[in-house]
Order: sequence, then structure tokens, then C-alpha cells
Amino acid sequence: MGAPYRIGVLPGDGIGPEVVPVAVEVASVAARAAGLAVEWVELPAGLAAYEQFGETLPPQTVETLRGCQGWVLGPVEHHRYDPRRPGMRNPSGFLRKHFDLYANVRPARTFPGVPTRYLHVDLVVVRENTEGFYPDRNVLEGDAELRVTQDVVVSLRVVTRQACVRIAEYAFALAAQRAAQRGRPGQVTAVHKANVLRRGDGLFLECCREVAARFPEVAFDDVHVDAASYFLVRDPARYDVMVTTNLFGDILSDQAAGLVGSLGLAPSLNAGDRYAMAQAVHGSAPDIAGRGVANPTAELLSVAMLFEWLGRRHGDAAATDAAGLVEDAVRATLARGVHTPDLGGTHTTAQFSRALQEALRAATMG
Ligand code: ATP
Repeated sequence: MGAPYRIGVLPGDGIGPEVVPVAVEVASVAARAAGLAVEWVELPAGLAAYEQFGETLPPQTVETLRGCQGWVLGPVEHHRYDPRRPGMRNPSGFLRKHFDLYANVRPARTFPGVPTRYLHVDLVVVRENTEGFYPDRNVLEGDAELRVTQDVVVSLRVVTRQACVRIAEYAFALAAQRAAQRGRPGQVTAVHKANVLRRGDGLFLECCREVAARFPEVAFDDVHVDAASYFLVRDPARYDVMVTTNLFGDILSDQAAGLVGSLGLAPSLNAGDRYAMAQAVHGSAPDIAGRGVANPTAELLSVAMLFEWLGRRHGDAAATDAAGLVEDAVRATLARGVHTPDLGGTHTTAQFSRALQEALRAATMG
């Protein structure tokens, strides 16, 4: 084993302290089995940190993350963060922007044994993460939503060539990688509304076309976001990699999660060139927090995506193997019918965690 990767652990709010420790525990078993050395560094963040330190993201946490290769962020209870209050930064938006985690990668896949409306969905939404309509990442100071009179609000959107090109490059590289793994041609679909947002989405589409010309082995098409949302519900198997701007990607990826069973199964990675942050797509699920029934799969598969990213970035087969072991354990456990209530089952988070660890042990003891 080489020097351990330092991976930060920020449990977040709501069900975060229930699902993040399970993800870390199960991922640790997989890492050990694959010969991957990981040092997990638990750090305060979120509403609990605010209670304790008066800051949702203490400076020490951000500083420590700088020395990590990646981290896991639990869900954030967005509506309880008031950016006007000192010390109330939203960790999710802040960390994406601060560490330039420009690609939010959100796969949606069907799992054997999980009842869904569709079979064989296997797509990824690649969402631009640093600009667009999100007011917390658009301006250097202040907020890009302006209430100019009592009854008028102006929301600013930022679209830059640099961000469009690099998100398109990420999507094409991912499609090429998936094509090699699956033994079939890759496809990228750019999702936009360039017929109405002619300049902003026009620039996005122009950049996607330019990048497509550099990846002749990957098929390329584009679709208006409204049509994409229609086709996604009618026939999700038509999509492979969907690349899009921030807001559209946020919406389409939740929709895609709904197609494959539960938000509890939908992982994501926020990736930059230097750091990556694992973060489930779902929110803090306040309706079930504290009851021990949350599904930790999304968080765990997000950690697997982080392992896979580390494997690619550092050319480290052990990290790639650890990711594969996690994936296989999740598949085997779900296929056995070990399901939390969001999937119609009766298993608790703790029971599900034990089943995952048994699956890992069974797989690695040969
Ligand atoms: P937030 O304000 O944090 O975004 P929310 O309730 O608006 O919270 P989610 O937390 O994503 O949004 O929850 C949407 C629904 O999905 C809720 O009914 C929640 O219980 C369910 N859900 C989300 N994540 C999970 C999970 N990991 N396991 C089980 N159910 C989940």
C-alpha cells in the first residue's frame, strides 16, 4: 500500500449523520480488501458546526480540506441556511465554487431487484456546477438575485466559454470511458434551450459542438430541455451522457433518479481537476431523519465514484478496484431484496449496512 489518501468526512444535516458513517464504514471495508490505504478525516460542517462554533463551515475545515485529495459531504438542509447571517455559508455551494468542482456527475441506473417503471436505464447527467442561475456562485461579492422593488426580482445568469468547454470535455471523456467499459459506442446529448436563451445557451451549444469535433468516436446530438424531459420519461434508455447547464442539470438529474426507484439510490460526484467531493443527490430528508431508516446507498455509491475518480487521477488500480467492490456489494445486496423503506422494504439503515459488509466479505474471501 502507498501513502494513504486523505479523505475528509463532513456528515451534514438531517439524515447525513445516519448515512455518511455507514458509507464510510462500508467503503473502508472495500478499501482494505482492495489494498487501498485511506485516512478518513472527520471535520465539522453544517448546522451542527454552527451550533458548536457559530459557523456552518469553520475556516479550519476549509483549510484541512485543502490538504485532502477528496471528501464526502452529507446532505445539506438548504432552507435553514440564511446567507445574510454571518457564519451561515451553505457548505455545498461554497465548496463547489471555492475548490472549482466544476463537473457535477450524476448517474441514474436501474438495479436488479429494485422495482422501477423502467428496465435497463444507465445514463449520466453531467451538470455544470460553478455558474448559471445559481446566485451563490455567480458574483464575486453579493448575490446575483436582486430585488429591485417590492414586486420585481431580477436573477442574473452567468455563462462563460471556459466553463462550457470544460464541462463538455468532461462529458465527452466520460462517454468515451463508458463506451470502452461497456463495449458499445458512446453518446453525448447536449441539453439546452438555445431557441429561447439564444446567447447563453447558444454559447453553451457552440462549445459542445466544438468539443464534439475533437471526439469523433463519440456520437453527439442535442435536444431542447423541455423535449429532453419528455423523452426522459418516455424512453430513458435512449440517453447515455447528458451534458447541461447548472439549473437544467439539477432538475433533470432528480427526474432521472425518480426513474430508477428512489433518490436514496442516486449518487453524485463534484469533480474538479485537483479535488473531488462525493455527495448524494438527495437532500437532508427531514421527514425521516433520526428514525434509522434512511437509505445509505446514494452516499455510499458517491464514495465509490470518488474512489473511481482517485483511481483515474492517480493511475491507482487499488482505488478503481475498491470502487468496483462497493458497486458489486450494493448490487448483490439490493438483488437479495435487502431494501430500506424508500424501496418498499423493512430493513433499517443498520441492517442494510450489515448486509453490505457481509456481501463484501463474501466477495473478497473468494
Ligand atoms: P432538503 O430541504 O434538505 O432538500 P427535501 O425533503 O426537500 O430536503 P430530500 O431530502 O431530497 O428533499 O427528500 C425528498 C424525499 O425523498 C423525502 O420524502 C425523503 O424522505 C426522501 N429521501 C431522500 N433521501 C432519502 C434517503 N437517502 N433514504 C430514504 N428516503 C430518502
